[in-house]
Amino acid sequence: MKKKALFASMSEIRPSNSNTRIIAPGSSGRTPVATAAPFYAEYPENLGLTSERLRLRMVDRVRSQGVTDETVLAALASVHRHLFVDQALASRAYEDAALPIGHAQTISQPWVVARMLAAVCETSPKPIKVLEVGTGCGYQAAVMSKVFGQVYSIERVRPLYDTAKERLRQMGCRNVHLLFGDGMLGWAAHAPFDAIVVAAAGLKIPQALLEQLTVGGRLIAPEGQAQQRLMMMTRQSSQQWVRQELEAVRFVPLKPGVQS
Ligand code: SAH
Repeated sequence: MKKKALFASMSEIRPSNSNTRIIAPGSSGRTPVATAAPFYAEYPENLGLTSERLRLRMVDRVRSQGVTDETVLAALASVHRHLFVDQALASRAYEDAALPIGHAQTISQPWVVARMLAAVCETSPKPIKVLEVGTGCGYQAAVMSKVFGQVYSIERVRPLYDTAKERLRQMGCRNVHLLFGDGMLGWAAHAPFDAIVVAAAGLKIPQALLEQLTVGGRLIAPEGQAQQRLMMMTRQSSQQWVRQELEAVRFVPLKPGVQS
């Protein structure tokens, strides 16, 4: 499969002792664009330093597993995954594994995040406005915020939505817009989307999501129950979608309705 880089411009989320700094590409890092409250204060200081190496190693692993989109890989390198999991799990954050985030949900595996984002980036023109179904802890949304212009993300579990919203706000991800609701219905007010990424597995891809895709855009979603596979749907015309089966995967279930 052909893989191309997307935006050239990137920023970096970097924790410091007491604030969040967003560092523009090529800048010295001396001029903070935005600051936030001490969200990282509870994390041991040296984890930030060691996590840099672990994260780069994680990115190398993902690259060796076949993801070559440099924009996606750079985004993966810049988002601090250990800040999206419980402190007790932070030391395992750069393993290529899904980890628990509470409420019987998990943070997605780095490889699968990269795989899905690289796949939807293969279209021409590149996606700008993108929908994610299943915000969870907000990790993938943060990675997406580095790859796409505008990110819309829906979560059905209220406490996860609340935590992700606060976390992404503190990290300065201003191009991520969150909704508490049933993502199976999509987000009609902001449709159509250039790409849709579903982070939970249903038996069938909801028609409402297919309808909210731009012509030429791609939707990627895991399908199945015990046996799951990533499916990619490319919208060819108003009534035509082309379906492609990708790798076997393991996701939490896509559920209807909301949970308070
Ligand atoms: N994107 C997350 C993955 C979270 S796991 C990450 O970055 O790691 C999948 C999430 O999908 C769970 O939080 C689950 O509550 C949510 N989910 C399941 N069904 C949903 C639905 N119909 N609408 C919105 N979110 C849903």
